[in-house]
Amino acid sequence: MGNIAFVGLGNMGTPMALNLLHAGHRLKVFDRDPATIAKLQAAGAIGATSARNASDDAQFVITMLPNGRVVEAIYNGPDSLFDALPPDAILIDCSTIAPAKAIQLAEGARAKGFAMLDAPVSGGTRGAQDGTLSFMVGGSAETFGRAQPVLAAMGATSFHVGPNGSGQLAKVCNNMMAAILMVGSAEVLALGARSGLAPHILTNIMRKSTGCNFVLERWNPWPGVDAKSPASHGYQGGFQVGLMLKDLGLAVDTAQAAGAPIPLGAAARNLFALHATNGAENRLLDMSSIQRLYWPNSSPAEFE
Ligand code: NAD
Repeated sequence: MGNIAFVGLGNMGTPMALNLLHAGHRLKVFDRDPATIAKLQAAGAIGATSARNASDDAQFVITMLPNGRVVEAIYNGPDSLFDALPPDAILIDCSTIAPAKAIQLAEGARAKGFAMLDAPVSGGTRGAQDGTLSFMVGGSAETFGRAQPVLAAMGATSFHVGPNGSGQLAKVCNNMMAAILMVGSAEVLALGARSGLAPHILTNIMRKSTGCNFVLERWNPWPGVDAKSPASHGYQGGFQVGLMLKDLGLAVDTAQAAGAPIPLGAAARNLFALHATNGAENRLLDMSSIQRLYWPNSSPAEFE
């Protein structure tokens, strides 16, 4: 079992770190929010005072942070964790950031003698809790192999996509698809509801029909249809609208660089942007709250 530094204990990072503890790894954790550190300490982790402090005896460093700017600051800022890192440590960034930024970070790490993987995840907070995440990994095959015991404690599948940056490219594509599925599902549930169909009945029919998709299976946007979905809990937790907007921005940038037309991805980005500007609090809600754009006060009671 390894010594692991874990930085970023949010909706995803906390359950991922808990699964590493359950697998028997020794964990040193840091987040700018002390309450999240306390939660992990109660489960057996060692609390650290900075990312650098967390990394001083780490064999693996895992970062799970909101965006590329924060990831850059943690690795290359004034209190850089590189200054504390033992030789041979492997850096695994699980955050979703721009592919170009992942390449730049890995090149910087290599210049300092460290191997780095971009390993963004899919599966949402439920996948993080169940330990069934999918990792999309960019980096050398040798580093990917050495990271397997760590990734296996947090996920069910890990794909070696190719060199550094390619994990993030796969993630950009996947999340654009997730956004399109979410918008499509919310739109269809509202169409059914306005026509008099109960969303839970329509959901059950589509789950067994050609409209079946991940959103209807595990992330239903209509409150009350799936007790475990964020929609049934006031859209709290889950995957914030602001993070999905960031990812759709990365999709637009990636498409621009590749000369690829993405009319549906661009439409999804604009719908999430509209939702985010409809109320300051919307940015922090789970992205399935896009349902409210179509049906502002959707509630289970309407169809009981
Ligand atoms: P989150 O906002 O819940 O968590 C981010 C954590 O980072 C917070 O606890 C915050 O306090 C911490 N943080 C921010 N700046 C920091 C700093 N300078 N130093 C230390 N800690 C800092 O976000 P999340 O939902 O856990 O997502 C994390 C990453 O995973 C994002 O890149 C997101 O795009 C990606 N992701 C999220 C999901 C999901 O379903 N939530 C799914 C797949 C990928």
